[in-house]
Amino acid sequence: MAAVTEPTLVDVENLVEAALTDAPVNTSGAWDVERVRRDFPVLSQTVNGKPLVYLDSAASAQVPQVVIDRGSKYLGEEHSNVHRGVHYLSQRATSAYEGARERVRRFINARESLECIFVRGCTEGINLVMHGYGRKFIGEGDEIIISAMEHHSNIVPWQMLCEEKGARLRVIPINDRGELQLDEFEALLNERTKLVSIIHISNALGTINPVKEIVATAHKHDVPVLVDGAQGAPHLTIDVQDLDCDFYILSGHKLFAPTGSGVVYGKRELLERMNPFIGGGSMIRSVTFEKTIYAGLPDKFEAGTPAIASQIGLGAAIDYLGSIDRAAAIRYEQELLEYATTRLNEIEGVTIIGTAHEKASVISFTVDDVHPHDIGTILDAEGIAIRAGHHCAQPVMQRFQIPATARASFAFYNTREEADKLVAAIKRVIEVFK
Ligand SMILES: *Cc1c(COP(=O)(O)O)cnc(C)c1O
Repeated sequence: MAAVTEPTLVDVENLVEAALTDAPVNTSGAWDVERVRRDFPVLSQTVNGKPLVYLDSAASAQVPQVVIDRGSKYLGEEHSNVHRGVHYLSQRATSAYEGARERVRRFINARESLECIFVRGCTEGINLVMHGYGRKFIGEGDEIIISAMEHHSNIVPWQMLCEEKGARLRVIPINDRGELQLDEFEALLNERTKLVSIIHISNALGTINPVKEIVATAHKHDVPVLVDGAQGAPHLTIDVQDLDCDFYILSGHKLFAPTGSGVVYGKRELLERMNPFIGGGSMIRSVTFEKTIYAGLPDKFEAGTPAIASQIGLGAAIDYLGSIDRAAAIRYEQELLEYATTRLNEIEGVTIIGTAHEKASVISFTVDDVHPHDIGTILDAEGIAIRAGHHCAQPVMQRFQIPATARASFAFYNTREEADKLVAAIKRVIEVFK
């Protein structure tokens, strides 16, 4: 029987659609938050009779109108499967989908767009590397280094691998401010180390880790580094070539795009040596019952029909980020962080968990004698959305010997007035529990 081959693709380079807007970016340095807020329709509603104060962007960031419109356009005018059809709609869908990949490439400054694999999110992305890289190259007695501030999605897959292979997980400790103890990291590296997998910005503490330095140290020992960029991508400008990391993983829904979108960036030579993660259609060059030959990058890692609408939305979110003054947005978030931190510290009984020198606009805190879930519930009644719990980082809670925290996370669309509302509401919570 002759091998079944997928239809040859139309030249994708020429299919990549142009950016949504080529309007010059205003880089005056001023940040017009009211103007930016109008780009996010969710923000203008009331909740429980009060204007919504959305302080949970670290769990899922809001989506600007241009992303919603781009998704609608795909569903209303272009909906079709990618990479398979020779017909008009399929070509348009493919153009939009590959256009999103090229946008991701530019956004993180990858060398080639085929180094950007589309996945459903950060969790799936780390699992892809665990299966594709870990199961192939990590064996008995080998070691994987993570840190004490990882999200569960950067702990559990490696534990599964260790269990299967007889490998060992080593953990970089953190100090009382919630910073990595880098001297301990150096001491953990040895000839058995096969991978370092590290969070860029802690979703539970806000800590920004010096990943460039970590990568350089690991590379001295020829150890590749995976960076969990779920929080890094929304709060920093990312240049994977400058960081020189081997993998960088991000979730679209934390980057102002729909859920179901995400990216594994990997260096080409690593991705080529890895096993595929999920087997099926689209990831093959040829299939017979005797043997399957896998497709090249990025298709090898994208079996089945991908989340086309979501990934196109991610491309639009990146266009949006390109249309604003990103440097001003980042500065503004830092100002909000400082302002909210100062105001929260003024409240007696409030303790901020995570006081690193380098921090993003994520503030975890506890209030004496009040459970974080009660804080979250009372604030919700006032239209204020915060997170309460362990933030998928139970080891961080264990490190600080607390069951949970309340967490307010700020994006560039939040305001000082919203920080004031948070502070006033927490003061009322304290009154209620007196
Ligand atoms: C949210 C998050 C994840 C998991 O991302 P999903 O989108 O839920 O798959 C991993 N790491 C960090 C730091 C996160 O904030």
